[in-house]
Amino acid sequence: MNPTRILLIHTEETRTHFRSIGIVENEPLDTEILYTVLTQDGHTVRIYDPDREQTGYEQVLSAFAPRLVYADGVVKQVPYMLDYMKRTKAYSPRITTVLGGIFAEHNYAYLYADTVDYICRSYDPAVLSAVASLQTEPEIQTDRLEALNGLCFRKGDGSWAENTITPYDINCLPRHIDRSHFYRYQSCFRLLRHNPLACVRFAYSCSHKCTFCYRTMMNCGRYIHKDIQRFAEEIQAVRSDTIYIVDDNFLVDPAVISEFIAWIRRLGIRKNYICYGRCDFILNNKELIRELTQIGFRYFIVGFEAVRDNYLEKYDKKIAVEDSLSCIRFLKSIHAGLYAMMIIDTDFTAGDFTSMYRWVKEQELEYVIPSIITPLPGTPMYDRCQKDLLTRDWRKWDYTHVLLPPAHMSVPAFYLRYHILVLRLFFLARRYGSYDFINAPKLIARFLLGR
Ligand code: SF4
Repeated sequence: MNPTRILLIHTEETRTHFRSIGIVENEPLDTEILYTVLTQDGHTVRIYDPDREQTGYEQVLSAFAPRLVYADGVVKQVPYMLDYMKRTKAYSPRITTVLGGIFAEHNYAYLYADTVDYICRSYDPAVLSAVASLQTEPEIQTDRLEALNGLCFRKGDGSWAENTITPYDINCLPRHIDRSHFYRYQSCFRLLRHNPLACVRFAYSCSHKCTFCYRTMMNCGRYIHKDIQRFAEEIQAVRSDTIYIVDDNFLVDPAVISEFIAWIRRLGIRKNYICYGRCDFILNNKELIRELTQIGFRYFIVGFEAVRDNYLEKYDKKIAVEDSLSCIRFLKSIHAGLYAMMIIDTDFTAGDFTSMYRWVKEQELEYVIPSIITPLPGTPMYDRCQKDLLTRDWRKWDYTHVLLPPAHMSVPAFYLRYHILVLRLFFLARRYGSYDFINAPKLIARFLLGR
C-alpha cells in the first residue's frame, strides 16, 4: 500500500432551511468505518462534516491538501455529492474524485459526470484504499482496477468500465471502529430526545423484500450479519449509553436475537437500545421482545405503513391492519416505546388523511413518522412509475415531497392535506410531551417555509 492523503466528506442531508439538525442527526458510521480502514492502511485521513464544522470546503482543501476526495450518501444527497466533486476539480484537477455509498451501489450510472473519476459500489473499504494507493503510481494499470470489487472507472477512451460487484461479508470489517469523530461531536448526534446516540450496524440488507424498499437491495440483496458475540463486544466498547442499531430490520431471526440477548447478559452490558423491527416478528416472538426490553431495548421503530389493508397489500407488507393494532397493544402492555412509520400515499383520498389521523389518535401513539411515498431509484417500484415522476430533482427525495401525481386531488391540495396532517400529528404528540425539547414555532416555520 502506498499511503496518500484522503478527505472523506460526510455529505450534508440538505442545504435548505428545513433540516433535521437538533432533531435527528446520525453518527456517520460508514464514514468512520472508511476512516478506520484507511488510517490502518497508512493513509492520512480527514473527515469533513459540513453540518458540524464551520470551515468552508475550499478552505479545507487548501489546509489539508488531499490527493483524493471521497463523498457518499443517499439519493437526496446526490446533488451535493456531485457539487463537491465539481468544486474539487475546480480547485485542482489533479485531485482524484471518488463517489460511493448506498445510492451508488445500484445507481452508479446517475453519477457518471466529468468531474467524477471513480465510483465505489461495494461496502468493502479496501476498494477505496486500493484506489487511493494507486493514485501514487506514475501509471495506473487497468488490470489492477479491474480486480477491485464493483468499481466503476474510466477506460482509456474516457468511457466507463463497470466491474462486477459481489456481496461483502460484514465480518471482514475491523472489529474496532475509530469513533473519534463521534466522541468529538457526540452532543450533536441524536434521535429526538435520545442524545448522545451512537450507531452500530449488525447486517447489510434485509431478508424481506418489500417492493418499495431499497435497503433490502443493499450488498447485492444478500443478508449477511455480524458474528453475534463480536457484535455484542462492539456495543460494549462504544462509549455511549444509548445505542441505535441502524439496520432497517434488526429483528430477522429469533435464534439470532436469542443468542444476542444471551451475549448482552453474559458480558453484563447495560445500555439503552433503539432498533427497527417488523410488526409480524414482534407478534410472533413476544417472549423475545419482552426479554429485549429487559436488557435495555427502549424503543422499537416499526413500519405499520397504512391504516387500510388495501395499501398494505399494495406494498406487499404481508401484514394486516389488525396485526398493527395487536402489535401496538402488546408493546404498550410491556411498556416498550414505539416509533410508528406511516406512508402517505399519492393514492390517498381526503378521507384517507383523516383516517390516518384518527387511527393514530385512537391508538394514542406518541411518535409517528409520516413519509410521502417515495419511489427509490433501483427498486421495482421506481422502474414501474418513473415515467410518471413530477420531478428529477434528487433533493426532493426526502419523503416530504410529492414525486408522483396524486390520484384524487391536485398537487397543491395534496400538500395542503399533508401539511395539515403532519401539524395535527405534531400537536397530538406534544400533548404526550413527546416533542417538548423542540422549539415548536421555529420547527413549524422551517417545515412550512424552509423547503
Ligand atoms: S422489512 Fe423493512 S427493511 Fe426489510 S424489505 Fe421490508 S421495508 Fe425493507
